[in-house]
Amino acid sequence: LAYYFKQIEKHQHLNAFNEVFFDSATRQAEIVQQKMDSGKAGKLAGMVIGIKDNICYTNHKVTASSKMLESFVAPYSATVVEKLLQEDAIIIGRLNCDEFAMGGSNETSYYGVVRNAADQSRVAGGSSGGSAAAVQADMCLAALGTDTGGSVRQPAAFCGCIGLKPTYGRISRYGVIAYASSFDQIGTITSSVTDAALLLEVLSGADHYDSTVSTQPVPAYQSSLNQSGNPKKIAVLKETIDNPALDNDIRNAIEYAIEKLREQGHQITYVSFDLLDYLVPAYYVLTTAEASSNLSRYSGVHFGHRNTDAKNLTDLYKTSRAEGFGEEVKRRIMLGTFVLSAGYYDAYYQKAQKVRKLIKNKIEELLNTHDILLSPVTPTPAFKIGENIKDPLQMYMADVYTVLASLTGVPAIALPLTSNAQGLPLSVQLMAKHFNEQELLNLSYQFL
Ligand code: GLN
Repeated sequence: LAYYFKQIEKHQHLNAFNEVFFDSATRQAEIVQQKMDSGKAGKLAGMVIGIKDNICYTNHKVTASSKMLESFVAPYSATVVEKLLQEDAIIIGRLNCDEFAMGGSNETSYYGVVRNAADQSRVAGGSSGGSAAAVQADMCLAALGTDTGGSVRQPAAFCGCIGLKPTYGRISRYGVIAYASSFDQIGTITSSVTDAALLLEVLSGADHYDSTVSTQPVPAYQSSLNQSGNPKKIAVLKETIDNPALDNDIRNAIEYAIEKLREQGHQITYVSFDLLDYLVPAYYVLTTAEASSNLSRYSGVHFGHRNTDAKNLTDLYKTSRAEGFGEEVKRRIMLGTFVLSAGYYDAYYQKAQKVRKLIKNKIEELLNTHDILLSPVTPTPAFKIGENIKDPLQMYMADVYTVLASLTGVPAIALPLTSNAQGLPLSVQLMAKHFNEQELLNLSYQFL
């Protein structure tokens, strides 16, 4: 723990942590030490883990990196936090992220941008940018993030880490500050597949506080890792690689990775996925709609920032929300309110739901005949701070490869490949059938 405290101190300029839990982490470390001494420690004994600042930990602040929740203290712990502590992990602090997890660069955070340790003039990615940078710079062993449309996988990719988004419904969302509830999933950022497997094993499973969690039994992901298994049928999504917007170094690194997979005995086929253009629009219509509804609770009445000199109730709502939310969050609330409004509901929200269904069918069809789908994680390596933030559409378009698994709910993992000439990490993404995390982890383990 002392080592990680030092690492955090040393890398303060990266701005990965919104708060370090010196006291509670130290106390927990003492308890775990005693348990270890008496041979009774849990599966995660001594693992030092950071949590994204949208996951509740009782009696600790949780802000979603928003002014709106600047002084909000969690009244209870998220199920994942309970599970971590039960297995004797040490929670070292809360990690910076985009405001309410809305963004792809950590630049919408009220607490400022997170810098990439590979090049400090560049972003760490988002929205779980703090989680990725913290693992990248060894400020904690592993971190939890949330992934609604790529927020675990994209920052992991930008920082050379492993980012796992499990199947929708694998891990309880109880105690996570909601962004878009039919997409939100907790995921892990780690530097080894073994850690990802172990964490998934601990975090997964039914929870009576979240009715969307599956009751499917949780496999022993980690101890099954060694079973190299049969050769896999891997489908490369052709249009994602042929895309002219894809960075050349990423394309080359992925082609090299495909060769390696072939040499390992897997069967590679290039398949057509012609719905690429529909992914980003469908994702942003649906997630902003859900966000506008989820964020209506921040009214300045029950909790959240409150304007103190409002003249009446309506004024209180208006001024509190105007002051508490940042620009990107407001943009999404407005967009979401628009697509849900009576006159436009059919044209946008309902249409997007149909498109989501179409995409799901297509992916299920592909996964009926293949074990794994392969695509890039991001169109480019980590970009410069300030480069995309002025152009929201450009920022949204960069989510094209990650939102596929989010729209369909399938598990997906971002794996680090080599770095480009500037030392920026490059990556590849694998997806599997619903609840087939084991296959994803095994292949990743074998591949890396
Ligand atoms: N970049 C995507 C967005 O802004 C993903 C966010 C997320 O997964 N939380 O919506």
